[in-house]
Amino acid sequence: MLTFSDVKGKFIKMGKILYRSTNRKSDLVTFKEAVLKGQPSDYGLFIPIEIPLIKKDEIDSFKNKQYYEIAFDLLSKFLEDDTPPENLFEIVKNAYNFEIPLKNIDENLYILYLDRGPTFSFKDFAARFMAGIMEYYAKQDNINLTVLVATSGDTGGAIANAFYEKDNVKVVILFPKDEITEIQRKQMTTLGKNIIPIALKGKFDDCQHLVKIAFNDPDLKNLTSANSINIARLLPQSIYYFYSFSRLNYEKICFSVPSGNFGNLMGGVIAKKMGLPVEKFIVAVNENDEFPNFLKTGVYKPVIPSKKCISNAMNVGHPSNLARLIDLYGGWIYDERKEDGKVIKFGILKEKPDMEKLKNDFVSFSITDEEVVKTIKEYYKKYKIILDPHGAVGICAYEKANLSYPVISIETAHPGKFSEVIKNILGFEPEIPEGLKNLILKQENYNILENNYKELKEFLMELK
Ligand SMILES: *Cc1c(COP(=O)(O)O)cnc(C)c1O
Repeated sequence: MLTFSDVKGKFIKMGKILYRSTNRKSDLVTFKEAVLKGQPSDYGLFIPIEIPLIKKDEIDSFKNKQYYEIAFDLLSKFLEDDTPPENLFEIVKNAYNFEIPLKNIDENLYILYLDRGPTFSFKDFAARFMAGIMEYYAKQDNINLTVLVATSGDTGGAIANAFYEKDNVKVVILFPKDEITEIQRKQMTTLGKNIIPIALKGKFDDCQHLVKIAFNDPDLKNLTSANSINIARLLPQSIYYFYSFSRLNYEKICFSVPSGNFGNLMGGVIAKKMGLPVEKFIVAVNENDEFPNFLKTGVYKPVIPSKKCISNAMNVGHPSNLARLIDLYGGWIYDERKEDGKVIKFGILKEKPDMEKLKNDFVSFSITDEEVVKTIKEYYKKYKIILDPHGAVGICAYEKANLSYPVISIETAHPGKFSEVIKNILGFEPEIPEGLKNLILKQENYNILENNYKELKEFLMELK
């Protein structure tokens, strides 16, 4: 274990996990500081300086535990003393109060349904933990936090729902005006109170870009992120990998992960680093194919602008978490910006990761919309299950990977959220969960902004 005797003037006990930046310039911080800062000042991403190893006995003990108990055990290892165990336990118990089905589909295939939370997307797993921990920290420090988040569709709803009516926190959400579905929009725009949605006249990458600038603007105080860049969103995404493994009886397992910003995937990679016996990850992407190309050629080329696919929450041409992934495999991806925050170059591969190791741990496939349609049809015909367009990317990639190990494919959203798309494909509407039906009738309220930082800044400065 590493020892830090003196970090930023504070005495840190041996064995605690601190967080560093992928851009290697910022100071080490505690979990709480990383959560509240969101992003390090050198434009990198926070990452734990070491990942705790979980012994096989402990992994075996998860078989007899509830989801929230596994969450408590795992997250305790990453958090500082500033989060007392009893508070952490309360937070995870409140966060994970819905079902998490794991269904056997075919001999070697399982589907893990992460779509049963309050907003019917896997983003609930991260958002609910994050809302709990941020409310706790804001109250502890007696401050009022503003959470600023960019969403490509599902994050916004999950964050809005998770933070709704939480004390000491308000949430500003930027979404690309013409790139999300009506349901996705209504999940953000019908709540009110401490939830403030903004439709940006731009793409998701523009939303993400403006948010990153805002974080590095010294005029804006007590601002934090809830995008997949925040470490509080990342760590809880490693829990369902342990959970699903514990519900099956295999020595080794593979996961197929429908991926956009690679937060879900990074959760899995952290689980593997903690000792979960993952043979391979199938990185399933839509037509934004920068990662499979990178694995193949070793040359990294972001897709700009990102391509619009029916799996709209995965329309990302330069995944923000790629910097963490490459870092954990010994490389360095750098985003370079001018002083006013404007990105001049990004996705620069400063140091190449261990490509052998990457290729050993990952396979990756880019799935076209046409293939998604075909997969949804086939799985309905063969197994009578309705996949959502994101889950279908994972399933199609699983088919292409043709591995000789059991695979858990992750279903990241409920098909009822994409009823139009499904209706066009299957000829009928999927069942819509009650929670979504009620939404349709509610009154919407949101702001519309131009795609420029000045307007956003003015808006944020005027918030009370
Ligand atoms: C966000 C999202 C994804 C992509 O997850 P990342 O962590 O960004 O890779 C996939 N499917 C759905 C439904 C999502 O909302």
